[in-house]
Amino acid sequence: MTRTGAPHPSHFTHPDPRFPFPHSPVPTPCQTQPDTFDFVNGDRSGESRQSTEQRLARARRACSGCPIVKDCLRWALVNKPLTKVGIFAATTPGQRTELRKRIADRLGPDWIDVLADQDKDRRERAAAARHDPLTVNQSRIVRLDREVNGPMRAPLTPSQQERNLSRLMAGLTAA
Ligand code: SF4
Repeated sequence: MTRTGAPHPSHFTHPDPRFPFPHSPVPTPCQTQPDTFDFVNGDRSGESRQSTEQRLARARRACSGCPIVKDCLRWALVNKPLTKVGIFAATTPGQRTELRKRIADRLGPDWIDVLADQDKDRRERAAAARHDPLTVNQSRIVRLDREVNGPMRAPLTPSQQERNLSRLMAGLTAA
């Protein structure tokens, strides 16, 4: 088999700084057996089709047990120039192209910026919660509000607010 590239992500020098490669508490399989994760679409040089398929199956199995598989996939999708070859999070380059198309259909052509903004909002909310945690009752109200109303989409009318408040209060009393 020809070693086709795909050095471990920590070797790359220019990933999108908004998406750092996830930290793994243990060495990942692609660090310990990098050759298993080599793959270029259509390249079978020096290896039979069957051997390639077996090797890819091994890589996929290894990724499925990796502690950072979910974040690895995200990193690989947003860092397209760095992941044109190789298996990342059990996906081939072709599968990642397909996944990027699906995400773009859902979030729009600037989907990477959308994901970065979502991450930033999440971090800010987590930081705010650490500084100003909700009281037990406030947490109950938030939880009940989500259960009753689902995610907020449009401003509520005064009568909706009144109705929801009475439902929340009834729920709290029953809790
Ligand atoms: S999910 Fe796979 S490619 Fe990603 S770090 Fe883990 S072993 Fe490596």
